[in-house]
Amino acid sequence: MSSIDTENFRVQLLTERERVQSAIAHLRDDHPGSLDDEVEESSPTNDNHLGETATATLNREIDYTLGENSEQVLSEIEAALKRIEDGTYGTCTACGREIAPERLEAHPWASLCIEDARRAERG
Ligand SMILES: [Zn+2]
Repeated sequence: MSSIDTENFRVQLLTERERVQSAIAHLRDDHPGSLDDEVEESSPTNDNHLGETATATLNREIDYTLGENSEQVLSEIEAALKRIEDGTYGTCTACGREIAPERLEAHPWASLCIEDARRAERG
């Protein structure tokens, strides 16, 4: 029925899942506690600490973005592994057509064909 080598993609997805999970764990290890706690620690009357606080905030925002992306990719990987189990892997979840193999090579967790992905990006 399908020419897609799901076993090959399954191995790729499992490898990628491990990588993303360790990235998420690493982000959490580096930043215990919340940003609010750090801000409260610096005294509002001490201007010398203002620059440091701004830098800490900037770094934290970047890390949060990475973390969110990692969570997003992780959930997409989980969904793709589920589709392999269900036998629906490689078909677009929006229109049901086959996803181009080169697209799956680049993004093994892709759930949409290129047309629907572009449509989704445009919102
Ligand atoms: Zn589609």
